Amino acid sequence: DTNTSAPDVLVLGGGPGGYVAAIRAAQLGLQVVCVEMDRTLGGTCVNVGCIPSKALLQSSEHYEFARLHAQEHGVRYEGVGFDLATMMKRKDDVVGANTKGVEFLFKKNKVTWAKGRGTVVQAGAGGNVVEVRGEDGAVTRFAPKHVILATGSVPIELPFLKFDEERVLSNVGALKIPEVPKRLIVIGGGVIGLELGSVWRRLGAEVTVVELAPTILPGNDEDIVKEATRVFTKQGLVLKTGVRVTGGGREGDVVRITVDRDGQSETLEADYVLVSVGRRPALHGVDAQALGLELGQRGEVAVDHQMRTSIPTVFAIGDVVGGKLLAHKAEEEGVVAAEVIAGKPVEMHYRSMPSVVYTWPEVATVGLAEHEVKAEGRKYKVGKFPFSANGRARTMGETTGLVKFIADAETDELLGCHMLGANVSDLIQEVVLGFEYRASSEDIGITVHSHPTLSETVKEAALAVMGRAIHI
Ligand code: FAD
Repeated sequence: DTNTSAPDVLVLGGGPGGYVAAIRAAQLGLQVVCVEMDRTLGGTCVNVGCIPSKALLQSSEHYEFARLHAQEHGVRYEGVGFDLATMMKRKDDVVGANTKGVEFLFKKNKVTWAKGRGTVVQAGAGGNVVEVRGEDGAVTRFAPKHVILATGSVPIELPFLKFDEERVLSNVGALKIPEVPKRLIVIGGGVIGLELGSVWRRLGAEVTVVELAPTILPGNDEDIVKEATRVFTKQGLVLKTGVRVTGGGREGDVVRITVDRDGQSETLEADYVLVSVGRRPALHGVDAQALGLELGQRGEVAVDHQMRTSIPTVFAIGDVVGGKLLAHKAEEEGVVAAEVIAGKPVEMHYRSMPSVVYTWPEVATVGLAEHEVKAEGRKYKVGKFPFSANGRARTMGETTGLVKFIADAETDELLGCHMLGANVSDLIQEVVLGFEYRASSEDIGITVHSHPTLSETVKEAALAVMGRAIHI
């Protein structure tokens, strides 16, 4: 077929996994087509995830600072207020700058953006065929040597609370509510629920978070969860944990949900509800069964350490392969897939994959939680250091939280690090580098840290593992 182009790589999906894979493959001299059906590149992360949520978190945090904390610094504002429309427009502008940025990078690296919905028609031994249907209905056919599936994930829906994005919201609707809710129910006390719940609480909504697990941020280190629960409650988030949502629905402008706790049932009412109970792999345009593509138990595409699927010329990366649903995980997997296709002997590993919650204070983590180390039956040591004992934190008025290290009792190798505090999204990064080099707590403890910085809490917590912190 003379009308069919045969690129080296076709990437299905232009989110952080897909666009990074496309750019890396192009850098390595491969001919690359990236298929994206949205009007903009960047996927969930740039359009309705990481970027818009962080823009609103920043704006609402400025407002909260002006309202509650500026006075401690001797700064007086008269009549502090906010304009939601301006906040929303700024958020949209930030998103726009990022989506255009990705488009620019595609041009710079000569990645072709095939606009439209892609369908994998055929894959494997007989050759790969992908058809892309544009908005105008025109179909373009590609016969790529390799395919990278980067189709992402979609929010999980509750059967009795179908998303209408007006009152029953997923992340998409919760990022553009046209007014501040009087009452907002957040179902799910994970990262997305706590971040978006915090935004609307700061702007004046009464926010109730209901979580099935016994605590918010299930699975995280207990010390951090305990501190986070205390801090968020003090800020005014109502946290109902160990609670099962059994029913609910919308009637006009009112949303009701029924929750069950130890056999006791209760009805909660609000004007908006955000359902953030998790996300599941999305396989738009990929009929796994027909193609013979192997899936895991949760419907994720099964891959090996080189991101190769059960079909040797088909790779998969990002949310669609499961694991931690994080943009930086998707990006690294994208780099690995591109490099493997280009013949490099690389593989993916997850030991030093950080996770961050961008509430204020922030939560950041890498490696194992204490209960996980315990469960492995390992001997370990713990070191902790509070921000209240750090000079810079005092100057900033940001004394909440702590840094906690867990290290192997015999070898001193770092096993886990957990932080809650100001700017810990950046502080975790030196520990991540430490993990990459299999550092010990001593390595970090004896490293010079500039004074006065928040990062000295990291040094001190590492020293505390060896019982030799200076400032506590
Ligand atoms: P996606 O970003 O979902 O991209 C997939 C793309 O593929 C989409 O654009 C889709 O339109 C396209 N596509 C799918 N099928 C087809 C097809 N057949 N044809 C054409 N196009 C197709 N992660 C972080 O690390 N940090 C954060 O702060 C953070 N905040 C978040 C906040 C929210 C509210 C949400 C919802 C998520 C957040 N995440 C965050 C998670 C992050 O957004 C995802 O992990 C990341 O976007 C996954 O990237 P991906 O490339 O795998 O998929």
